[in-house]
Amino acid sequence: MKEDTVRKAKLLEVGEIFIPKEIDMPCFASRSTAGPDAGSGAHAFEFGSARVKLSVTKDPEARVRLEQSPGGFSILLDGEPLVEGVRVLPLVAHAPNQAFLNIGQECIMGCAFCAMPGPGAEHAEPLSAERALKIISINASHPSFSAVAITSGIPESVSATNDSIIDMVRTIRAHYPAIPIGAEAYIEDPDDILRFREAGATEIKINIETWPSELFRKLCPGRDRVRTLAALEKAVEVFGRGHVTCNLIVGMGETDRDVADGLKALAELGVVPNVRAIRIGPLNRAKLEKALGAVPGKVTAERLLALGEQHRKILEKNGLDTGTFETMCFSCRCCDIVPMADL
Ligand code: SF4
Repeated sequence: MKEDTVRKAKLLEVGEIFIPKEIDMPCFASRSTAGPDAGSGAHAFEFGSARVKLSVTKDPEARVRLEQSPGGFSILLDGEPLVEGVRVLPLVAHAPNQAFLNIGQECIMGCAFCAMPGPGAEHAEPLSAERALKIISINASHPSFSAVAITSGIPESVSATNDSIIDMVRTIRAHYPAIPIGAEAYIEDPDDILRFREAGATEIKINIETWPSELFRKLCPGRDRVRTLAALEKAVEVFGRGHVTCNLIVGMGETDRDVADGLKALAELGVVPNVRAIRIGPLNRAKLEKALGAVPGKVTAERLLALGEQHRKILEKNGLDTGTFETMCFSCRCCDIVPMADL
């Protein structure tokens, strides 16, 4: 296994980094409203072939720390050098290679692991098409800009949200005829999948989140697992194998066997699942404790790497490859161990 992948897994296990104020950062931290670092500032780092995005903590006692010397940046873990020759990656809009835009920054679905605020919480105005186009045009000249992705919380209903995402995809496609566009959505009406495709999306992510049905019921009380699986199957018909993905979050009480069962079932449908370790923070800690009866522990680097090996073998057996994706998390590679790229 590549040493850089082992180092990346160790950093993903901790999930956060302390950056002393005397360090001269080449770019600003990004503040995400969706994804594992939602609600906190974060920086992305690259070393060798590995990329990792870490939340920035103000705790000077944090286990992971950035250092700067005349030779460049390095990362320390528990006071010991972990990686030298680190590059700080500028983030286009949330991700280093793409504008990943979140339209609606509140959600009624109540999923326990999610850091997005529920109804009534203070949040930014929904993202307008004009603003999205402006963000994309500002970032389009960035040398690493290569894709757009759109997601959204559900402020009122799944169908209204999908109408907004589809309109946004259509508008972006009209201005950028050749750019890969990813859409991350909940699907209740399978006809929406065709509408996403016809509007110009090239890839789609429909999250199953966790494999055991009992856990799904506890963690996603507003959602329907059977419909989600049916939507994934339909999405493969519409978008094709290797263009449909879904998050499978680990560290919420499932066993390795559950994860393997999920990976196999999804890959057999032609879906390329993304294994993501749960990140626990102030925005989801209490919700997770309520749903699961206890706050889950961190997912260890060893477990992430073992699941990654299994994940790669299952994809290979089903003729699937994370390298077929041009948008969203497989092309970004910051938050997860990505088979084929990392191991
Ligand atoms: S891996 Fe996915 S969630 Fe993480 S920064 Fe990249 S696009 Fe965002």
